[in-house]
Amino acid sequence: MGDALRQIPIERLKGVGPTQSQKLSRLGIHSIQDLLLHLPHRFEDRTRLTAIANLKVDQGAVIEGVIVGSEVQFGRRRSLIVTLRDDSGQISIRFFHFSKAQQQHLKNQTRLRCFGVPRRGRSGLELYHPEYTAADKSALAATLTPVYPVTEGVTQNLLRKLVQQVFTLPEIQNGLPSLTTDATYPDLMPCLKYLHTPPSTANLGALAEGLDPRQRALAFEELTAHQAGLAQFKQQLQLRRAPALSCQPKALEAFSAQLGFTLTRAQQRVVEEIAFDVNQTNPMLRLIQGDVGSGKTVVAAFAALIALTSGHQVTLMAPTEILAEQHLKTFSQWFSALGIEPALLTGRLNNSTRQARRAALANGEIKLLIGTHALFQEGVEFKNLGLVIIDEQHRFGVNQRMALRNKGRAESMTPHQLIMTATPIPRTLTMTLYASMDCSVIDELPPGRQKIDTRVVSGNKRGEVMARLESACESGAQAYWVCTLIETSDVLKAQAAESVLAELQHALPGLHIELIHGRMKPQDKASVMARFVRGDIQILVATTVIEVGVDVPNANFMVIDNAERLGLTQLHQLRGRVGRGAKASFCLLLYEPPLGRLSKQRLSVLRDSQDGFYIAEQDLAIRGPGDILGDRQSGDVVFKIADLRRDEDLIAAAHELAQTLIEQAPQQAEALMRRWVGAIDEYREA
Ligand code: ADP
Ligand code: MG
Repeated sequence: MGDALRQIPIERLKGVGPTQSQKLSRLGIHSIQDLLLHLPHRFEDRTRLTAIANLKVDQGAVIEGVIVGSEVQFGRRRSLIVTLRDDSGQISIRFFHFSKAQQQHLKNQTRLRCFGVPRRGRSGLELYHPEYTAADKSALAATLTPVYPVTEGVTQNLLRKLVQQVFTLPEIQNGLPSLTTDATYPDLMPCLKYLHTPPSTANLGALAEGLDPRQRALAFEELTAHQAGLAQFKQQLQLRRAPALSCQPKALEAFSAQLGFTLTRAQQRVVEEIAFDVNQTNPMLRLIQGDVGSGKTVVAAFAALIALTSGHQVTLMAPTEILAEQHLKTFSQWFSALGIEPALLTGRLNNSTRQARRAALANGEIKLLIGTHALFQEGVEFKNLGLVIIDEQHRFGVNQRMALRNKGRAESMTPHQLIMTATPIPRTLTMTLYASMDCSVIDELPPGRQKIDTRVVSGNKRGEVMARLESACESGAQAYWVCTLIETSDVLKAQAAESVLAELQHALPGLHIELIHGRMKPQDKASVMARFVRGDIQILVATTVIEVGVDVPNANFMVIDNAERLGLTQLHQLRGRVGRGAKASFCLLLYEPPLGRLSKQRLSVLRDSQDGFYIAEQDLAIRGPGDILGDRQSGDVVFKIADLRRDEDLIAAAHELAQTLIEQAPQQAEALMRRWVGAIDEYREA
């Protein structure tokens, strides 16, 4: 059957012992199938001879000629220069490492055939260390020569030989029947063979872009497998039982009444969708997308209220401590009238407090738990968890989400799950990565919001920017100054932010300026945020820790240092920290000149738009999905062949086909998922 090749370990091949297989595993190659799916990323054309006069820089070619000069040059580095001539011209070949024997061999009048990549050298084009043989012995290659992604200890030659060997195995002769449908899609084995060793007539441009029909056939199958995994996951979730939570209209009314604002129509609609879902006896898995500032927190509060008043525990998880603290405050205020006191659990609590919290969770004393990743660590048990809320989902990976789902203690009861993200996810990605979820969109901002006046400003005008900030603060504004630092370590980031703080304090002595960054103690962060909320601090110098969730409506001025370093979606998130109140807001995107064309284009997208979906689409067009979703997110789903951007047009059909297979041909779907299992096993853990 089709997945037999997955069962054959790579050691079956001659020449692959334990050491080799260890090295191959670093490329993700464990089985024969893995090797087959490890496709070349480019090709060399060694099928024909190129006249020396026709060589082009950086384009590998085979040439043949007679040596007409051979000498050792002593320069900065000793090198052997051999001059090769054919009917059309001549070229220098340079060896930095060469043996006596080599030097003997490469003497005048010897005929040579070389494959090499011409580079610009001292004497026009030169070849460095080309592969060469005596001309009359070797035959030209019959097919294009594949160049594979390799790693230390795994050479091109090894991979080429192994792949050739694979195609002689008896098991291969059964082909790799397409599992997507029987008739319409081709046997994939000939596709793979072609892609490993295309004929010299192949369209290299199409291959390089992944647009060869054979690549597309593989990508389609992989996408279908991936979609089938998600569909199956959804189906399995449907089979799980969840507590049916029912809302008590009185409690909801009382809660609404004390909010101080009325829900927007979009918020109202989403609350209703949630209320309906959690009233079912199978678990909700709902993704809420709402642009920055659209008011997701209050929607989460309604969901929490439904669960709490139904007698169930609720947990709310945030990506940063600052955000967890803020949610704690907000929810304490909102729920105090109901007698519900939320508790906090983050990674930095001392041991005894943490123990106490855990005990109180397990016995049901804590009804509403708010926290960070620490929530996931071993030992967190709930008494009767009914609802899990994950804020700013794009900051977490799939694994972490799955982990929490298993925290519901009551046997076989799965809590409902609400996932909130401000990253507007383009539709195709939603379908690909979130096909197992139901989606709601809050597509309306609370009334009274003003457009954030956004400017792109050269770093040369830093002085003017400070002056402008000063006068704004003097007339009551509060500002964030965001340092976007390239340093990878938190320590260095903190140091760099400190120096910006010093710079601002020096330039603007009349203002109260403070700093917040990820390395500070939780109490210190909390205290700085509290003073900023109270208005005691006028300028908050911050690292990107404030990127998500922070809600200080009075802050209405933002400066982003080196804005060109960040992605559009991230900038949009950051900017979303201002423009939350009724006051006019400003955002200055400072860049380090000179600014490249692409960066200029990107920053102007942000200047001209405040629509998160539009910005995300632009970001996707300019940079690709991995960047939009952040490292963690894109690390979740690794495709072997498919590329979400390139193969976007296949996703809808793959989605549909997967659905049909799961419903009508489960065995085929199963085989399909097994074949591409690397891409889907994440979804099996739940
Ligand atoms: P986000 O969707 O970015 O998480 P928040 O939930 O933090 O947004 O809400 C942003 C701000 O808007 C908060 O100060 C919140 O209290 C306020 N808000 C939310 N909904 C409404 C509404 N319907 N009318 C007025 N203000 C609202
Ligand atoms: Mg939020």
